[in-house]
Amino acid sequence: MTDLLIKNARVIDGSGAPSFAADIAVSAGIITHVAAAIDLPGLETIDGTGLVVSPGFIDMHTHSDFSLFLEPTAGSRVRQGITTEVTGNCGGSPGPILDSGSEPFMEYMSDLGVLYKRRLSPEDWNWKTLDDFYARLAAKGTAVNLVPLVGHSTLRANVMGYDSRIPDHDEMERMKRLLTIELEKGAFGLSSGLIYHPGAFAQIGELTELARVVKDFNGIYATHMRSEGKFLFEAVDEALAIARESGVSLQISHLKCETPAMWGKGTLLLEKIHQARRDGLLVNFDQYPYTAYHTGLLEIFPVWAKEGGSSKMIEILNNSRTREKVMADMVTPPVDWDNPMEDLGWDRIQIMGYTRQENLPLNGLTVAAMAKARGLDPLEAVCQVFCEENGALAMVVFAMSEQDVVTIMQDPYGMIGSDGRSVTPSGPASGSPVHPRYYGTFARVLGKYVREKKIISLEQAVHKMTGMPAEKLGLKDRGLIREGLAADLVLFDPETVRDVATFEDSHRYAEGIPYVFVNGKAVIFNGKHTGDLPGKKLLRDA
Ligand SMILES: [Zn+2]
Repeated sequence: MTDLLIKNARVIDGSGAPSFAADIAVSAGIITHVAAAIDLPGLETIDGTGLVVSPGFIDMHTHSDFSLFLEPTAGSRVRQGITTEVTGNCGGSPGPILDSGSEPFMEYMSDLGVLYKRRLSPEDWNWKTLDDFYARLAAKGTAVNLVPLVGHSTLRANVMGYDSRIPDHDEMERMKRLLTIELEKGAFGLSSGLIYHPGAFAQIGELTELARVVKDFNGIYATHMRSEGKFLFEAVDEALAIARESGVSLQISHLKCETPAMWGKGTLLLEKIHQARRDGLLVNFDQYPYTAYHTGLLEIFPVWAKEGGSSKMIEILNNSRTREKVMADMVTPPVDWDNPMEDLGWDRIQIMGYTRQENLPLNGLTVAAMAKARGLDPLEAVCQVFCEENGALAMVVFAMSEQDVVTIMQDPYGMIGSDGRSVTPSGPASGSPVHPRYYGTFARVLGKYVREKKIISLEQAVHKMTGMPAEKLGLKDRGLIREGLAADLVLFDPETVRDVATFEDSHRYAEGIPYVFVNGKAVIFNGKHTGDLPGKKLLRDA
């Protein structure tokens, strides 16, 4: 018995091959037929005239871990065609949590976790392993499928807290053991976030040892590199050296050329990656299609000050002597600091995430505008709001050039990763703006970069979103439209698909994507969310 029949749509199968006309039949979550003019007694028939049908989009880089607990319908994700999210990125996964590690873990998780800890009941907030966390999430249900990574910073926070040193033999073995346990239970690899502490305390040897463990399981090592600005090339060298030494399959996260000094270096950067591939390294990357990035406000401060985490940072700012040193370093940055503000004015940074009642009107203002409203010097104002909001603020920094975004998108080894989270316009995160990539990434590639700018073909774009990430992750049953594979499917209108979310008005769903199916079940049907939660944690096919 066929559950679903999609007729008259143009098929883009995810392999990068040219589109073709065919009907698609789905039964019990599986694509059963891909053929011309299928005539089966379908329970539900969709007329796809004028639409493209492609595999569901695989978002290679997200931070939905906690947010899916509160927003399982994943509106910001499925409305742009995402059916699978790779979670646990930038070194931060919600597990494992050892008893001895729970305090450093929470400190480390303050940006990601605090909002959710406040809203989750204590019995929901008591997992130990990452696998345990996903079992709970699966029990609640999610609209999207999940591909979890283990966060290196999470491992380190558990075993070494915020210590800035090389692990001793015993600590290294404990981190490897924790990682092994999660990989055995189906995690897809390891992520690192080497600008974030405590992950940034790790040196290359530690990361290489952990990457070897990942290699043994044929997982991936996804890295938010040590620099994306001034020291970008050195950071790429480090990532490639880890891949070379360990043999691990490397995924460079959100590849970009940050800060004006690096603008125009996209071609050189890609040449380095191509050379590594010619040398036999398994290296890919992902990208989001915007010229601004989004991270914790903590990252604006000098390394020595931020490396103890947010609560330590507040102590530093509350002590007049250390506060002056922070200010002095920010006015005259040391040359060895990868200062995120380098060559950028205060009008290029927006701060968001204010929760104090009197600060709510500041949400989304640039530092320049916020400081003006307070009658303060911008630097003073940043320190003040950071302390008032206990460090739990985010910033959006307009630090990339459009040309590099385009150059990187045209590269054949790149995928798409939103670096977003599951949110909805009426959910717990809706009171504050978010980066528009949360809602718009995939639709923006299809609308702005394929249709309007003709940067890449539609088939190439879909391949970057489906077949390529599925192969990288070892998802043999997804990422292509083929008989026998899982029915994660998206129908979009190539003439109208577009992102709507902006930096000023960010909680806006993408348009032109009327149908999304996850494991054969409709999540978006005729433009409406069905409320169904058919997602599951996926299995790695090693
Ligand atoms: Zn990152």
